Amino acid sequence: MSALDVSSLREDFPILQQMVHGKPLVYLDSAATSQKPESVIQTLDAYYRATNANIHRGIYQLAEQATEQYETARKKAQKFVNAKSWREIVWTRNTTEAINLVAYTYGRANVRAGDEIVISLLEHHSNIVPWQLLAKEKNATLKHIPVDGQGRLALDDLDTLITDKTKIVAVTMMSNVTGAITPLETIIARAHAVGAVVIVDAAQAVPHLPVDVRALDVDFLAFSGHKMLGPFVGVLYGKRALLEAMPPFMGGGDMIRKVELYESTWNELPYKFEAGTPAIAEAIGLGAAIDYLETLGMDNVREHEQELTAYALEKLQEVPTLRLLGPEKIAERGGLAAFELPGIHPHDVAAVLDRDAICIRAGHHCAQPLHAYFDLPATSRASFYVYNTPDEIDTLVTSLQGVRRMFSNG
Ligand code: PLP
Repeated sequence: MSALDVSSLREDFPILQQMVHGKPLVYLDSAATSQKPESVIQTLDAYYRATNANIHRGIYQLAEQATEQYETARKKAQKFVNAKSWREIVWTRNTTEAINLVAYTYGRANVRAGDEIVISLLEHHSNIVPWQLLAKEKNATLKHIPVDGQGRLALDDLDTLITDKTKIVAVTMMSNVTGAITPLETIIARAHAVGAVVIVDAAQAVPHLPVDVRALDVDFLAFSGHKMLGPFVGVLYGKRALLEAMPPFMGGGDMIRKVELYESTWNELPYKFEAGTPAIAEAIGLGAAIDYLETLGMDNVREHEQELTAYALEKLQEVPTLRLLGPEKIAERGGLAAFELPGIHPHDVAAVLDRDAICIRAGHHCAQPLHAYFDLPATSRASFYVYNTPDEIDTLVTSLQGVRRMFSNG
């Protein structure tokens, strides 16, 4: 018995009702982007039909309504991750932009030659490249927390990796390849003990588990609306004192208090970091997605995904030669399963599965250093969310058995 009433909630997702190649769609790529419930689609539709106007500057009813909805959505995001103040929630384009914001502002202001930035081998490119750019610009050193054979962070040498020279620690909360959930408490405690700040890439965590920024005592945390049933908008959480002290990211309208010919002063938080017209409808749509997830309950979402993942890991082993990546213990991983079928390129696997209307992802999943560590150019990945069922996993496994047969007969 699932923690969620999946057969009824599937009816909330119009896209899942369709047939592809004459077969029911089996969507197993939510780690890339999630599908949207009717309530989110309707919120976007209603916004454009009834309240579309630019925010903050308008002195008429529509503009006030748009502003009010936009700011209400911010408060929903604040509550969802338990931030202390709505001023600590900055709208961005996505997780990538949120991490870049911290690298370009906090990073540039606080990292000097000889300082160290610590990331990990599990990171998505969006939590690698901004730190490479910063380290190069500042002549700082980039260090990596290693990974063990199960694709988990290996913390044995944490005290020698994170030292007095460390200014920033940037780690994922859940790997988008191995699914490993990071023991953040240990990393954050060590980073704070040496005076470093911690930025957490929570792109794969906030959609799937309860996340509490205050309980974690994390300094910055980034996530993407589109991976949590919402539209294409991102969120950066930052501790207020840190955000106050940071210089702005981009310059333009809304982020200023006063502009003179040669000098400007900055708006208060969070607007200092929101230059130009933001993704208004998308932010409001994310508010609707958060409402939807809260109605389900994030503990139930997590429980449902753990059940599905346990089932998937067991069933996938029925496919001859298939090799799974990631932690063996379900409690240590999120709702996805990346795997290798030796001798068959993941692109071929995904293309054959597509004929059975199954959507999975194949490639390096924007984690080339991790794939290099595993000595694999690419993997296949099935990822699960609130609307997936054990029947869909059976369909996946049957189709993979067909792939295996097809390529063995050669
Ligand atoms: N971090 C992780 C762990 C991810 O899985 C992703 C997306 O796949 C990202 C960051 C980047 O998210 P976005 O493309 O929404 O910026």
